[in-house]
This record gives sequence, C-alpha cells and structure tokens, in this order.
Amino acid sequence: MTISRDSIVDWIKAFAVAIEANKDYLTDLDSAIGDADHGANMHRGMQAAVGKLPTVADKDIGTILKTVGMTLVATVGGASGPLYGTLFMQLGTSTAGKMELSLSDWTAAVEAALGGVVARGKAAVGEKTMVDALTPALEALKAAAGGDILAALKASAAAAAAGRDSTIPLVARKGRASYVGERSAGHQDPGATSSHLLLQTAADTLR
Ligand code: ADP
Ligand code: MG
Repeated sequence: MTISRDSIVDWIKAFAVAIEANKDYLTDLDSAIGDADHGANMHRGMQAAVGKLPTVADKDIGTILKTVGMTLVATVGGASGPLYGTLFMQLGTSTAGKMELSLSDWTAAVEAALGGVVARGKAAVGEKTMVDALTPALEALKAAAGGDILAALKASAAAAAAGRDSTIPLVARKGRASYVGERSAGHQDPGATSSHLLLQTAADTLR
C-alpha cells in the first residue's frame, strides 16, 4: 500500500478544516501563555494554502507540499508561519517528483520536516513547543517501519497526542510563552496542539 497524491491533497484540506474547527480552542490556549493568535494565524494560512491547491492539484506531491509551505510563510506572521512553512517546505523537498509515497518515504519526509523546524526554531524536546508533538510522532513512524501504513499513521497520531499532553506541566523555554516563565506550566502548548491535528488528519486521510 502507498499514499496517493490525491490523499495528500485531501490531507491539506482536512487539516484546514480541523484548524477551522479548533480555531477558538487554539486561540484560547495561546491566550493563556502567548498572544491569543495561534488559531487565527493557522486559519489564515491554511485557508490561503487550500486556495492554492487548484493550481498544483495535477503536480507531484513535492510541489503540492512546497506550495503549502511557501503560502504559509507568505501569509502567516509570528512564530508559526515560518515554522509550519518550513515544515511543509521540507516535506515537499523530501517528496520532490513523487506521485505516491511508501511508508519509508513518509517517515523520511516527516524526519526532514521536524529537522527543518528544529533548525529554524532551535527547540529541543521538553521546551513546550510543537517539537514535543512532532518528535514522538516521528519515533512512532520509525518504530512502525516495514508494517502497515495505516497502523503506522495511527500510531504516529497517538504519539503526537501524548506529546501534546506532555507539554501541559512544562515550563516554556522558546517563543512567546517563554516570556511568562514558570507561569506557563499547567497550560497545553498551542503549537503542539495544532501539530497533533496535523498528524491526526494525516491518519484520517492518507491512503
Ligand atoms: P507567536 O508565538 O509568534 O504568536 P503562534 O501563536 O502562531 O506564534 O505560535 C505559537 C507556537 O509556536 C507555540 O505554541 C509553539 O508550539 C511554537 N513555537 C514558538 N517558538 C518556537 C520555536 N522556537 N521552536 C518550535 N516551536 C515554536
Ligand atoms: Mg501567538
């Protein structure tokens, strides 16, 4: 079994829908430890990205994902625009020219994406960022190597959920939330929450 180009397009649309459905929730999370714009930032970016899909729907997976990344960089300010932009651009670079993906292709793409986020944001696991959701998601994909793709995608979404939850007691060390210092403990990180939505919608749509 492989992941089709059409299901990659479905994933982008499903992520945009999930962001829209969780817009106020993400903003509430960001209001506790940041500036209450994560929901609006991600929603603006993903609406713009979905708007670009018709221009690339017949292109390879790498072109589609790179276009999403460039659109996020162009339309979203703050930390999440460059970080999610890099994430999608690295997914796209890793999948350049491909019309379908194997599980190992997908795992390599997620590894490149996380590498891009870490290179840009310099966050390590445990600093209360999206890296806390993405890192266990990648580890779950690696652990599922050679097995069923759907099971691997579900395991990575479950690992991202656990990683998201792991941010609650943490003190933020990166980004705006680090400005509130110790008071950030007890709040779930908004970026880790949206990153779980990214992996959950991947498990729901990639086929
Ligand atoms: P801003 O913080 O500029 O208002 P957003 O509110 O859209 O941007 O995004 C905040 C999220 O970005 C945080 O919850 C966190 O997950 C993520 N983030 C912030 N800084 C970093 C960083 N250096 N590395 C990784 N993720 C980061
Ligand atoms: Mg914010």
